[in-house]
Amino acid sequence: MTATPFSATTLGSPRIGPNRELKRAVEKYWAGNLDRAGLESVAAKLRRDTWETLAAAGLDSIPVNTFSYYDQVLDTAVLVGALPSRVTDIDDDLDRYFAAARGNDSTAPLEMTKWFDTNYHYIVPEIGPGTSFELNPAKVLGELEEARALGIPSRPVIVGPITFLALSKAVDGAGAPVDRLADLVVVYGELLKLLAEQGVEWVQIDEPVLVTDILENAAEFTTQTYDHLGGLANRPSIFVATYFGALNGVLPVLARTPVEAIGVDLVAGGGSAVAGEFANKTLVAGVVDGRNIWRTDLAAALGTLETLLGSAAAVAVSTSCSTLHVPYALDAEDGMDPELRSWLAFGLEKVTEVVTLARGLKDGREAISAEVAASNAAIASRRADPRLNNGHVRSRISSINASGSERGPADERRVAQNDRLRLPVLPTTTIGSYPQTSAIRVARADLRTGKIDQAEYERRMRSEIADVIRLQEDLGIDVLVHGEPERNDMVQYFAEQLDGFFATQNGWVQSYGSRCVRPPILYGDVARPNPMTVQWITYARSLTEKPVKGMLTGPVTILAWSFVRDDQPLADTAAQVALAIRDESVDLEAAGIAIIQVDEAALRELLPLRAKEKEAYLRWAVNAFRFATSGVSDATQIHTHLCYSEFGDVIGAIADLDADVTSIEAARSHMEVLDDLNAAGFTNSVGPGVYDIHSPRVPGADEMAASLRDALKSVPAERLWVNPDCGLKTRTTEQVTASLEHLVAAAAKVRAGLS
Ligand code: GLN
Ligand code: ZN
Repeated sequence: MTATPFSATTLGSPRIGPNRELKRAVEKYWAGNLDRAGLESVAAKLRRDTWETLAAAGLDSIPVNTFSYYDQVLDTAVLVGALPSRVTDIDDDLDRYFAAARGNDSTAPLEMTKWFDTNYHYIVPEIGPGTSFELNPAKVLGELEEARALGIPSRPVIVGPITFLALSKAVDGAGAPVDRLADLVVVYGELLKLLAEQGVEWVQIDEPVLVTDILENAAEFTTQTYDHLGGLANRPSIFVATYFGALNGVLPVLARTPVEAIGVDLVAGGGSAVAGEFANKTLVAGVVDGRNIWRTDLAAALGTLETLLGSAAAVAVSTSCSTLHVPYALDAEDGMDPELRSWLAFGLEKVTEVVTLARGLKDGREAISAEVAASNAAIASRRADPRLNNGHVRSRISSINASGSERGPADERRVAQNDRLRLPVLPTTTIGSYPQTSAIRVARADLRTGKIDQAEYERRMRSEIADVIRLQEDLGIDVLVHGEPERNDMVQYFAEQLDGFFATQNGWVQSYGSRCVRPPILYGDVARPNPMTVQWITYARSLTEKPVKGMLTGPVTILAWSFVRDDQPLADTAAQVALAIRDESVDLEAAGIAIIQVDEAALRELLPLRAKEKEAYLRWAVNAFRFATSGVSDATQIHTHLCYSEFGDVIGAIADLDADVTSIEAARSHMEVLDDLNAAGFTNSVGPGVYDIHSPRVPGADEMAASLRDALKSVPAERLWVNPDCGLKTRTTEQVTASLEHLVAAAAKVRAGLS
């Protein structure tokens, strides 16, 4: 247990590959175009490159076992033998793993949900009455052996038992997963013993759940777990890593257990993240932001580190969390304005900052004076940049707020809109996107490679729109959409057209499994130089007599799926994005569009992890939406769309958004959502999804009619809309055509029974 102390590390790294090599390899493997050996060699090379890069940057302790073919929580379920029985009879371990992650012809996958308040999704382990834990250490031991063969100072990383169970879901009538903590801790103990036998000096156990209010008894669980593991005779030194917030009261509790090191997130947790004494422990200080892309203020970070020196036996420098959430390295990004580039640090640059700070802490400020000077210069340049301060935008926001921009009462709006739109009862509509056809993909690729020019690209997009309008007219849908063919992504599309945003070429981060996203960088004051959607929507409208709904993305969702400036409150940034969306909606209205949908798919995602911060968040989030949607007249109908059915903490906020029509996911949750909405005092119109677009299955008309009749028990017909769960872009045209035909038929049947 006399481990070599370490001074500079990171909690984890991106793993999808600097050029998304892993994504390509697993997708080929799934398609049967790459064999297992081929996939494994891509994976091994990515691991080696990652470790060698971290070692070359100067880290003296390097995380191992942070690679994953899909997800680290699923890896942990495999590690502790907790896969559900529906996959355990699949012989091949990799097929079994991917079946759990994505399902196969005969097996439903495990659920997937957001990893804390990030846009990364993990696989939700299932803990049933029959789940028994059993150590299956092949992955961690294999990766350890690889790393050691390369001479890497390796530190295996595993998701901790408290976090694992807190994020799991009870199935088949089992009690709360965390009731099984004592059983699970035994398996972790066996793993520690095994690692000690291999001569491992340090193990990192991740317990991010300790910074949340998910568990009521977090302190007790902490004591129970880490007194036990810390008390084992034969084990490596234990580093408990926490991130995404402050530990608050759990910190002194953890400090009283026998673990050797505690990691705290001094970025998300702020100054109050560390309070207490760690006389005999190493404090791993997460001072370099692992999940946003801003360059660290080295002088300030060093100051923070110096204040910690007195309270712990040793201070090591680290990123605040795994850099899984940021792109690999800045050098993959050409064409970026050099000024902006100088303000940024991606994964590799963050590791370099960690090493610099560790050197400064050890050898004194003088030793890193050049780096501190460069950091100061970048910060000064960022602060002084005129793009961060657009007086016109700021004064417009204040004056709109001062003049009190609120829409009229909901019932008056309803009358005005009914007059204008003359829709049938139970109107049918869709959520926005139609299938991404190969013609769309080809057109985008051709534009990128210069094979076609912008005019030809736009011509092809118009032809897609014409197809989608014709399809909807043929189907007899009441409120049409243009289908969103021109949008690569519902956030990036807007970011590319707004001032204050930079859309990266190669800044990919893993969202789930093989799926990656490129969050735009919101660095300055946001302004809208030109209309962004009007030409497409008005073109669609020119093709039909039916109302066409204009589609916009809401301010909160745009923030949630971007890297956002950290120099002002999120609420202020949200207001600027809201102004741009408001201006766009006013332009759409002026162009004759009578219905505008503002999607807030990510409203729940930005919800703070701590209960006491939720109310303030919801207040500004709702304000931003209302600001964005109150520029239009009462006769223009505002829709919103939310992508989930478990509202929990945000249900009151959904009512407060005060959209005229809200579409929500419900096909899988059998309409319970309507009662929840009623209970929250929601009285506007609602479209609970009756077609589950997450599945290739085509639901029948009777089935959807039954859902609608169910819905009518909770919502009067005048307030009920008929629509799918979400956008149709991931489905095929055949599936969508058949399903929507049934949807329209279902609405007709139920209408006929109303009279
Ligand atoms: N309008 C978007 C679409 O239909 C909404 C997507 C979403 O909710 N994630 O694709
Ligand atoms: Zn959705």
